[in-house]
Amino acid sequence: MANLIILFPDQLSMSLSSLQHCEKQQDIVMLFELKEQFTYVKYHKKKIAFLFAAMRHFAEELTVAGFLVRYVRYDDPNNTQALDSELNRALQESKVKQIVSTQPSEWYLLDKLNQWNEKKIIKVTLLPDQRFLSSHESFAEWARDKKQLRMEYFYREMRKKYNILLETDGSPIGGKWNYDEENRQPPARGISSPPRISHKKSPILLKVLTLVSDTFPDHFGSLEPFHYAVTREHALLELKHFITKLLPNFGAYQDAMVRGEPYLYHSLLSSYLNAGLLLPLEICKMAEEAYYDKTAPLHSVEGFIRQILGWREYIRGIYWLYMPEYQHRNYLNAKRSLPEFYWSAETQMRCMREAIEHTRDHAYSHHIQRLMVTGNFALIAGLDVKEVQAWYLSVYSDAYEWVEMPNTLGMSLFGDGGIVASKPYAASGKYIQRMSNFCKHCVYNPNITMGENACPFNALYWDFVQRHEKIFQNNQRMGFVLSTWKKFPIEKKNEILQQADEHFKRLAQGYL
Ligand SMILES: Cc1cc2nc3c(=O)[nH]c(=O)nc-3n(C[C@H](O)[C@H](O)[C@H](O)COP(=O)(O)OP(=O)(O)OC[C@H]3O[C@@H](n4cnc5c(N)ncnc54)[C@H](O)[C@@H]3O)c2cc1C
Ligand code: SF4
Repeated sequence: MANLIILFPDQLSMSLSSLQHCEKQQDIVMLFELKEQFTYVKYHKKKIAFLFAAMRHFAEELTVAGFLVRYVRYDDPNNTQALDSELNRALQESKVKQIVSTQPSEWYLLDKLNQWNEKKIIKVTLLPDQRFLSSHESFAEWARDKKQLRMEYFYREMRKKYNILLETDGSPIGGKWNYDEENRQPPARGISSPPRISHKKSPILLKVLTLVSDTFPDHFGSLEPFHYAVTREHALLELKHFITKLLPNFGAYQDAMVRGEPYLYHSLLSSYLNAGLLLPLEICKMAEEAYYDKTAPLHSVEGFIRQILGWREYIRGIYWLYMPEYQHRNYLNAKRSLPEFYWSAETQMRCMREAIEHTRDHAYSHHIQRLMVTGNFALIAGLDVKEVQAWYLSVYSDAYEWVEMPNTLGMSLFGDGGIVASKPYAASGKYIQRMSNFCKHCVYNPNITMGENACPFNALYWDFVQRHEKIFQNNQRMGFVLSTWKKFPIEKKNEILQQADEHFKRLAQGYL
């Protein structure tokens, strides 16, 4: 009897462990486009189109490689649109011994597979996801007995484990593990995004674009223009383009934000990486090679590798270490409703408007826009952690719960109480003024805290500090900020808090 190999939409890699265990011409490889999975939060139109097209292309590649593929299309009239019922249908139509699956990336899917097993609906064999560079077990082992799980130390271990950017004696190349002091510059005058490559649209993609346009008109975001690669071949072209043309400046402008420039020198590789079209180690190796070939400086290469070998693996490790309990955390008890402008971009705050418009148009905004603009505002305004997470999960083409949740709840909203971030990533308008040119085009003034034209980030920042003063007293890294707040005369404090109230009132009325 055959095995049924289930492939989830983010498992589009030929090297996947379940495919390695597949008996070609006997086992059935099943992929499905299910309403349940693409609308439980309403995915951005570009995200649906990217995944449907990438899945369909991958199914074709599997067929060419000799696998037996069962592909359930979204518009197949027999599609029951839910995982349980699709499993039933598959089991009725074919004699199947067991399900073989590479561990899904998200907890609720793993839970479902385990339930099928426990309820004896069908035997399920789970295989590790070897595309990641730190297994659940090795991360748990690293985390064991540690008081604080700081990414920097995890990253150093990963550098050693994979022998990346090391001297022959095991010390870091150049003498330091981290070159961030050379990175993170404000935008240079006149800086713009270098050109990106484009891909000819395949007949598969064209069909998918029509399907998505007809079927998901009420989902957030613009479908066109659509520039995403949808095959591994094209994703590799994106990778090569990044390494040769953009990596040299990646580090310097990693944190810079510029009006009308969503990408700058960022790689745009996360969607391909998370869906399986690219693999983390191949990316790190290519970046390392660029350093040895002297085509990119060490600070850029190290900074970039740290994002993938360090942050990405660490974030996944945190998710699996703390789930399912992690999802219920709300350390700062943040409950204010998500303002409508997170969807409409109708706000006078130029920085928020830019970040949301980039998101709407590209299903993308870069890390600092996610963290220090939309995330920072959500943090200091105390927006509801569940609503904010649902927003991040639906609007970005690279979003899956395993990576979105620790980034949003943990890093951005400090909702996990300091597991991911040693202190809240809260900032006033001054930070945004320094790292972007947004403020020059804003009706608000980042240099003032009080009055009609005061930047809302300023008073909201202090209001946030005051709101959580007691909690932050135990956080050494908040010491300076707290003592600054405490030194303000009482009249000044009251004025700032009143100003913050004013912003909250306007927020509730929808015109901030
Ligand atoms: C609130 C918030 C939500 C986020 N949600 C997601 C998400 O749903 N999916 C996602 O992939 N990333 C998420 N990130 C992390 C990061 O913002 C994106 O990975 C990055 O912006 C993707 O763009 P890029 O490929 O151009 O990245 P680059 O800036 O070019 O970085 C290179 C790669 O490093 C990896 N990386 C960098 N930072 C992180 C990080 N913090 N966590 C995980 N991987 C990282 C990504 O794979 C990325 O492709 C989130 C960050 C924040 C602050
Ligand atoms: S002034 Fe304030 S609201 Fe306006 S762009 Fe600058 S930081 Fe954003």
